[in-house]
Amino acid sequence: MPVRNRFAELLPEIREWRRDLHMNPELGYDVHRTAGIVAAKLRDFGCDEVIEGIGRTGIVGLIHGRAPGRTIGLRADMDALPITEATGADHASTVPGKMHACGHDGHTAMLLGAARYLAETRNFAGTVAVVFQPAEEGGAGAEAMVQDDLIGRFGIEEIYGMHNSPLLPAGAFAIRPGPFYAAVDSLRIEVRGKGGHAARPNNTVDTTLAASAIVMALQSVVSRNTDPQQPLVVSVTAFRTDSDAFNVIPDAATLRGTIRSFDDATREKAIADIRRVIELTAASYGATATLEFDEVPYPVMVNHDAETVHAAEAARAVAGEVKSDAPRTTGGEDFAYMLRACPGAYIQIGNGPSAGLHHPKYDFNDEIIPTGCSWWVELAERRLSA
Ligand SMILES: [Zn+2]
Ligand SMILES: [Zn+2]
Repeated sequence: MPVRNRFAELLPEIREWRRDLHMNPELGYDVHRTAGIVAAKLRDFGCDEVIEGIGRTGIVGLIHGRAPGRTIGLRADMDALPITEATGADHASTVPGKMHACGHDGHTAMLLGAARYLAETRNFAGTVAVVFQPAEEGGAGAEAMVQDDLIGRFGIEEIYGMHNSPLLPAGAFAIRPGPFYAAVDSLRIEVRGKGGHAARPNNTVDTTLAASAIVMALQSVVSRNTDPQQPLVVSVTAFRTDSDAFNVIPDAATLRGTIRSFDDATREKAIADIRRVIELTAASYGATATLEFDEVPYPVMVNHDAETVHAAEAARAVAGEVKSDAPRTTGGEDFAYMLRACPGAYIQIGNGPSAGLHHPKYDFNDEIIPTGCSWWVELAERRLSA
């Protein structure tokens, strides 16, 4: 069955929800307005239960079918990013410095649309748990919900997620079994030397020079220390010293960056290599360097084989075809935590050609709403067929 006609009818309304969320973005766990709207709508739709405050500000709605049966989870994310929007759209963010630049407004709206349809039709046996999580962009909201017993408490036996992709044609689907999104580690490297007058560097330990050498030396971790068959990214993204003056050699410098990897052994070796390189490079300048991690790491997101097939079959039914060997992405995704706790799969839906995710000119493509909603419903009805 292709895109369901009901979603063509509902599109203007779902688009309004999406644009309202877009105009009022919230960050991390502080998604109180968004979560309030989600909970109120789920109650309006006639969900059998709506539970708030799971994983701090996460929401779960339960929709029972016409007969008893298994329970599956359908998950969307609700949080925005600390970016100032530059789309110039009529529905642009009204909050300076906050923006839905990853399309989670669209994900939330599509899952709400699917929940409305499923609550109206109930053409399945068992229970659909619609899961709306906070803090995907760095706060591990999925892990917070799992720690709050999301899976056990509702007896969720399979869980699915969907993310839009500007790299795919509008409404096209792509998926792969196994490792799909990279593990994410966030690095903080503190370099300490001995500050002093820039005119007399011989009386100092030049922290800026040592930190610069560390940035360069870190480039060898991937190119010289890592198995070329194993994907790995090490990026240094920030370099800050504790002086702004032209004539002062600073005491301290902070570097920030990220590691992206697809298996534990490569990740652990990279961390050990980074630690060795920064400590010994700093020491060669008479400085010290320490390695810290200041965000919760995201594990590799691994799609389960059988559920990947189920997700792909539902996508084929809706869109006619599905790319089932999508390339791995070095982006991270905290749905990884849910897939470690429960069998499931994550699929990409094309946003069509647009600015990239996390870009100030990115916008979710409302035209794909009927396709995304239809996939959720198709998947739920297939997995809970009476
Ligand atoms: Zn994102
Ligand atoms: Zn995202």
